[in-house]
Amino acid sequence: MAVGGINPWEVALKQFHDAAEIMGLDDDLRRVLSTCKRELTVNFPVKMDDGRIEVFSGHRVQHNIARGPAKGGIRYAPDVTLDEVKALAMWMTWKTAVVGIPYGGAKGGVVCNPKKMSLGELERLTRRYATEISVIIGPEKDIPAPDVNTNPQVMAWIMDTISMHQGYSIPGVVTGKPLNIGGSQGRFEATSRGVLYTTMEAMARRGIPVKGAKVSIQGYGNAGSIAARLFSEQGAIIVSVSDSQGSIINSKGLDIAEVNKVKAETKTVVNYKDADRTKDTKAPLTVPCDVLIPAALENQITAENADHVKAKIVAEAANGPTTPEADKILHDKNILLIPDILANAGGVTVSYFEWVQDIYSFFWDETRVNQELERIMKRAFQQVFAIVDQKGVTPRMAAYILAIDRVAQATNTRGIYP
Ligand code: NAD
Repeated sequence: MAVGGINPWEVALKQFHDAAEIMGLDDDLRRVLSTCKRELTVNFPVKMDDGRIEVFSGHRVQHNIARGPAKGGIRYAPDVTLDEVKALAMWMTWKTAVVGIPYGGAKGGVVCNPKKMSLGELERLTRRYATEISVIIGPEKDIPAPDVNTNPQVMAWIMDTISMHQGYSIPGVVTGKPLNIGGSQGRFEATSRGVLYTTMEAMARRGIPVKGAKVSIQGYGNAGSIAARLFSEQGAIIVSVSDSQGSIINSKGLDIAEVNKVKAETKTVVNYKDADRTKDTKAPLTVPCDVLIPAALENQITAENADHVKAKIVAEAANGPTTPEADKILHDKNILLIPDILANAGGVTVSYFEWVQDIYSFFWDETRVNQELERIMKRAFQQVFAIVDQKGVTPRMAAYILAIDRVAQATNTRGIYP
């Protein structure tokens, strides 16, 4: 989705080159790391419910596999483009490197409108797409996961399709699977837990106690609603949340159990009674609070509203919620920003745990998953902020420097084949 006419691949390249410049990365490595290793486009027929045959297009891109098999989600959307998938694949390379898990980066997408398709059509599309990309995916090669408009059921169909081809079950070919076929405990809330753990480190850095801290969240889907629950369990006060219908605000705190009930019953948070309500879906971005969590879409904090952000910490649960101009404004206001490739890496980290458990056929309880996640997220936070302190760069730049350096070192150690 090229929001606001911005080509995401150009954005990804610019971010890479900006970091490479500060690092003094040599031109050879720049050429290698700014290129996607594999770009597969597939066009394939699917029988629709009315008997027609429709031809769909999809992509699977592997940006880099120097540190391990490629890893990244698959999205279904009408406006998926190859450039978008390439950018997302590159961001996955940096995300897995920043948290230090042994993966490269990949992404997949199918151009379709899943909201207008029946379950049967979606299953046939998924199984055929999985077959088409089966030449490059596998537990040792490239491991997909859910992304926009795909879910554990879609992963189950992919896992079953690849398993049928081989004649035996291969659970490690995808992550984000249902628990009963090799999914991991804790995967569902992993992204928000990662946001919680990194934000708690940031709060410690700024001397803000979690208990009583005011938290504001834009977006109330998987990432946003679970973050609201986890932060309130820690004693934080959730002062504002929003979804695509509007926002609710109460500086004394929202009752999250009640907000969840209202959202489940009426499909939106705006019917919650004990709060000020507005149709403005961006209201949480500018309310007075300690922590702001954008958890909806890209390009939400912009040059227009960044100056009105009152939070002391911004934790990017969403991918790309802050534009480069807004980045600079937040930095000048001394707001501590936890960049997306660090803040929301909890999801891919527990995906890694799922893959490890599938390969060993030995499954962990939720306590172990959460402990390992906490260790990895806190370690990554400290490593990123050590670079912030050493080099005086922004946290986003520090995360890129850490990640690119790890991939560059792996590339150098392996050498160029042949
Ligand atoms: P989701 O579809 O479950 O939820 C999105 C939420 O945003 C919904 O509540 C929707 O109503 C709301 N929304 C949509 N447009 C909005 C607008 N204009 N203003 C305010 N709210 C709006 O998606 P999700 O899985 O929670 O993902 C949210 C963000 O987090 C995305 O950027 C995604 O890439 C990122 N992310 C999610 C995960 C994950 O594991 N779920 C992992 C990494 C990153």
